[in-house]
Amino acid sequence: MLEIKECKICNHDVIIINCHYTCRNCGFSENCHDLPHIIDDD
Ligand SMILES: [Zn+2]
Repeated sequence: MLEIKECKICNHDVIIINCHYTCRNCGFSENCHDLPHIIDDD
C-alpha cells in the first residue's frame, strides 16, 4: 500500500509504504502503527 502524504513537521511530500514514512527533507519518520492519525486523517 502506497500513499502520498505531507510530513507533519515540514510539509514536504512523503510516500508512505506499509504505514511508514521517513521524510527526505527533515528526516522525521512516523509509523501508523504507533500513530494511527497520520493515515486516518483523510
Ligand atoms: Zn519533513
